[in-house]
Amino acid sequence: MQLIDNYNFAGKKAIVRVDFNVPLNKETGEVSDDTRIRGALPTINKILQDGGSVILMSHMGRPKQNPDPKCSLQQIIPAVSKNLGGKEVKFVADCMKAHEAAANLKPGEVLLLENLRFYEEEEGKPRLAEDASEEEKAAGKARVKASQKEFVKTLASYADVYVNDAFGTAHRAHGSTALIADLFSTENKMFGYLINSELAAMDKVLQSKDAPKTAIMGGAKVSDKIQIISRLLPTIDNLIIGGGMTYTFIKAQGGNIGNSLCEADKLDLALDILKKAKEHNVNVYIPVDAVNADKFDPNANTNISKTNETPDGWMGLDIADETIAMFSDVIAKSKIVLWNGPMGVFEMDKFSKGTSAIAQALAKATANGAFTLIGGGDSVAAINKNKLADKVSYVSTGGGAMLEYMEGKVLPGIAAIRGDK
Ligand code: AMP
Repeated sequence: MQLIDNYNFAGKKAIVRVDFNVPLNKETGEVSDDTRIRGALPTINKILQDGGSVILMSHMGRPKQNPDPKCSLQQIIPAVSKNLGGKEVKFVADCMKAHEAAANLKPGEVLLLENLRFYEEEEGKPRLAEDASEEEKAAGKARVKASQKEFVKTLASYADVYVNDAFGTAHRAHGSTALIADLFSTENKMFGYLINSELAAMDKVLQSKDAPKTAIMGGAKVSDKIQIISRLLPTIDNLIIGGGMTYTFIKAQGGNIGNSLCEADKLDLALDILKKAKEHNVNVYIPVDAVNADKFDPNANTNISKTNETPDGWMGLDIADETIAMFSDVIAKSKIVLWNGPMGVFEMDKFSKGTSAIAQALAKATANGAFTLIGGGDSVAAINKNKLADKVSYVSTGGGAMLEYMEGKVLPGIAAIRGDK
């Protein structure tokens, strides 16, 4: 496999798949959070400093047609340019019509292509009317599949070398994330620095022998996290459960959960996880006390109870002090920590204390030498809300992609370059 550090881009044109699916201010159309643009800078700068030129390609939003001005990447040119120190960013308003612009690109120059998803071929999914018949669906699928080869061939024709640095879409088998890689030789395709660091962080959690190793699983549903928990059990020492899924475990063990979130059809699954954890000598920590609300509302009345004695009519929306102390202690003693999913409804101030406390505990553990990886949209949002992103070891940029990798699934965007089976 080619490594970006070993590659000299001098005189080469590199087509780089980045994840510039950035949020825009609805009124001004300006980029409201440029984290993803900043994430791609090391790769872009390496190519430019070597004396190569860069062709950037990305998706943004969910365009409904071609073109779809609301999803135009033209809107992000100022933000990309600013992050490149004011460098001119050339733009082609149709990613299939960039032959000339690519051919004229000189070393040190940057060209941005319009949103790849303006074309159905990027995702390989036809745009269909809502009432499309089965026949129309099949015909649409066949049509897009047939033209997808030409789509990626055109993109590949712009460049000498392909770099994938879009971790957030690595779990999708799309034209620009996977199929295009087949059109470049092994020496001329590689991951960018962002994907490399994502893989290094996840592999460290999965493979490191440092102990104790702790996985903190929160969020709404146990059904979303079952696969990652199963995969991690043989490799971890501690499993911390939090968030809404707590109550499926409490109910499965005979506790009273009031109106708390519960997946009634997953009670056996919860018991099975506890059994498997025991078989693997994993300590499981489930919340013992909670902040309850009388309704799912930021202004709800609250009380505190044991999690297995939730009063009728109340629902647990955050972990309370005894649990915070217990979890913080486990985290403080850990050498490796993975955190996915909030401990409560952290979007509402009244129920955000537990999640903030866990974020603080992770920062403290990191300062004391632990390796801490945070992934999944909501835990990343919680770390950012607490302004602790630079106080933990690694914050993943790909929620879905990270979950799938940690679950042991083959990610098409990774496999296309690394050959994972
Ligand atoms: P997930 O996407 O599965 O990580 O779930 C994140 C969501 O779970 C967030 O929007 C939280 O508000 C929600 N959540 C966390 N704890 C609870 C809880 N105790 N009850 C209901 N929802 C919760």
